[in-house]
Amino acid sequence: RASACREITVIFKVVNPKSGFYFSAPDEEYPDLPVLANTDHETERARYWLPCMDHPSVRTTLTVEIHARDDLVALSNGKLVLEKPSGETGKKVSKWKLDHPCPSYLLCIAVGDFIQANGGEHAGKPVSIFGPRNFFREEDLQRSFGRTKDMMDWMASKLDVPFPWPKYYQFVYSGGVGGAMENISLVSWADAYVNDEILAGERGWFVDLVNVHEMAHTFFGDAVVIRDFLHAWLKESWANYMELVWLEDTYGTEALHYQLVLERDQYVAEADKKYVRPLVTRHHDSSWSMFDSHLYPGGAWRLHMLRRILGDEVFWPAVSIYIQKNLWNTVETNEFRRILEDHSGLPLECFFDQWIYGKGFPKLKVSFTFNSDRGETIISVEQKQQDNAKGIGLFDFELEVEVETSEDVFQIVTVELRSSELEGKGSYALRSEKRPLQVVVDPNGKLLHTVDFTPGIEILQRTLNRGRTVLARCFAASALGELSSPKATSALADAASTESFWGVRRSIAKALGKIGSSAAVTRLVELCKQESDPRVVVSIVEALGHHSDESALQNIEDLLTQPDSPLTGHIAKMTALKMLGKQRGPSRVALLKRYLEQPLEEQWWGWVRRGAVAALGSTRCEESLQVLLEKLPYGAVRGTHGLTGVRSSIVEAIADCLEWASGSRRGEVVEILCHHLRTDKQYHFRMACARALSRLGDVPGSRAALHRFSLNCVNQDRPKVHRLVQNARRVRSRDNGFASIIAENESTKKDLRKLREKVDEMEHRFEALSKEWKASMKEKDSNAKQSKISLDDSTTKSA
Ligand SMILES: [Zn+2]
Repeated sequence: RASACREITVIFKVVNPKSGFYFSAPDEEYPDLPVLANTDHETERARYWLPCMDHPSVRTTLTVEIHARDDLVALSNGKLVLEKPSGETGKKVSKWKLDHPCPSYLLCIAVGDFIQANGGEHAGKPVSIFGPRNFFREEDLQRSFGRTKDMMDWMASKLDVPFPWPKYYQFVYSGGVGGAMENISLVSWADAYVNDEILAGERGWFVDLVNVHEMAHTFFGDAVVIRDFLHAWLKESWANYMELVWLEDTYGTEALHYQLVLERDQYVAEADKKYVRPLVTRHHDSSWSMFDSHLYPGGAWRLHMLRRILGDEVFWPAVSIYIQKNLWNTVETNEFRRILEDHSGLPLECFFDQWIYGKGFPKLKVSFTFNSDRGETIISVEQKQQDNAKGIGLFDFELEVEVETSEDVFQIVTVELRSSELEGKGSYALRSEKRPLQVVVDPNGKLLHTVDFTPGIEILQRTLNRGRTVLARCFAASALGELSSPKATSALADAASTESFWGVRRSIAKALGKIGSSAAVTRLVELCKQESDPRVVVSIVEALGHHSDESALQNIEDLLTQPDSPLTGHIAKMTALKMLGKQRGPSRVALLKRYLEQPLEEQWWGWVRRGAVAALGSTRCEESLQVLLEKLPYGAVRGTHGLTGVRSSIVEAIADCLEWASGSRRGEVVEILCHHLRTDKQYHFRMACARALSRLGDVPGSRAALHRFSLNCVNQDRPKVHRLVQNARRVRSRDNGFASIIAENESTKKDLRKLREKVDEMEHRFEALSKEWKASMKEKDSNAKQSKISLDDSTTKSA
């Protein structure tokens, strides 16, 4: 009978699971590794240790009974209903119960020698953070995750839905998958997210955002579950978007706008340079492949646009209804759309067709003309993204443009663009007596787009200094960076010293880095010395190293090594070291080695060490390769802090170095990497070896090793590993000839920059000379007039 029930008991034992369940314990090489066992499943890794239907549409309530050493903490989803001695000496049994249905990927178990940091209570529900005892102190956990309770208060009120679970626990693990994961009422965090005091300044804001993200999954993903991973945007885009909403409510519109800039750039980098796909699609080779920049920032932007179309008064209550109506159920995209439509009365099919089921985004060309006779400014907008081969069409949308018509008088106009009319073009005629002082496209971030708009240096400079929104000022900074003239350099650097918002200062640093002239480098060094926000310092260092010019790199080395160095942050130092490696060759290897061997207590979680490793890879010299190869075997890297990350970065750096080595040297090292790909005990290290081998091309032996790895790797990684094998085939043709082309290209770039600087200098001198000439002509003129007058005088007199 269709409705018949059968009870099944499965008794099973798992030994050394390939994935899904991770174990850590002290070993011979690392006697201080934490005692820890934890699961991590997304998207399809529960199946490696748990008999289950490993798909989000299949859900069960849970009773988890854990038998463990009685000095360890044992955690799982839901509520602890029992903990007592198990009867065996030194052992205990803990029983956790979750009454709501849970898909396999959200089930979680963690057992470890944990310390516990009390995170307070939200609506009577306990909040706590656990972390490995020998790695962290309570204050480290509080510093990193101590705002959790406040975030919960905010979120419950924003969504107008109470937190559904009996507790909100988080734990920190070491090794394993990396990243953070939203298991029902038991969020997991990789150890790299824990901040010391210094890192908190550079990365605290980011950890806060991830905290909000995982918490948002409570409502988007955990309590309202997606029916299939093809609707993953209903959880990931939402979790990502809640980060932005939290920023807005906590730090204001400027913070929201800056995050919109970052998210747009991240999405565009993927959609423009790698591949473009609809947000919801059945065409994917693995559910895990969907978790990309389309899904996170691309989807977050789409939710933001929906919110702007509906307005806050309609949008948030509709979202609240969507959650409450679907609590404990599974959902698909159309159910979300229908609730928004019902609540707003707006048809949203067109929006969903072009933004959720369609590909691409508007790429705009904007220009304006001012006609003084007719007293009007005409703003023209053209869509340039259409690409039939890729299946990208024209979009329907409204575009806001802000115009400063006269000193401090602003007007926002809306240009309507319809895919069916005027080939997707649009324009607006604005009455204006004077030429506009500023023209800003989409000043309030209502449309995901890129824009090609060059209104001239005067307008850009005014926008950078007086633009009313962060979006406007960031655009002006980036456009001035494209102009790349001495005047643009000064405009940018001057604005950096007066700009109050840290994000815009980062955009300015990036733009100056793009210009990369000696004047820009000098100004960047000055800015670095006076900058007080550690997040901006990192961007300045990155900008300084943009061109791997020796003088710029010398500046970085000076900044890094001088006694009162402004580079105090771990990420700033890591970035500085990375940049130093760009000066190819062995000249800085000794310095980099010093940082690689720096005692752990002077570092935090291997951040600086990873910078040194990456830099050694960038030097592309045999001496660096030797150093890196020595660190490759398990146990060769000293210390356990950040061990997984450091080891993976070593493999990556070896590939960087080796891409430029001779065929025979490459062959030797490939053999070593193949050995580690087969034998290393860390799966993620083996994945790093696979990536490196793929980059090194079709060296004898590597393809077979990669192929074997693809047969044995985790299911959800298999398409990725297949792509690595294919890539290795493509790299075949890339021999030493390719290396010499790249080297030539680099030196051409340097020559070009020198040439441009000379042109700039000549322009400068020409300007000065023409000023001088004009002044001397004026003088001559007035002298001539003078002598004419005196001549006239004398004539009169004589007359
Ligand atoms: Zn997520």
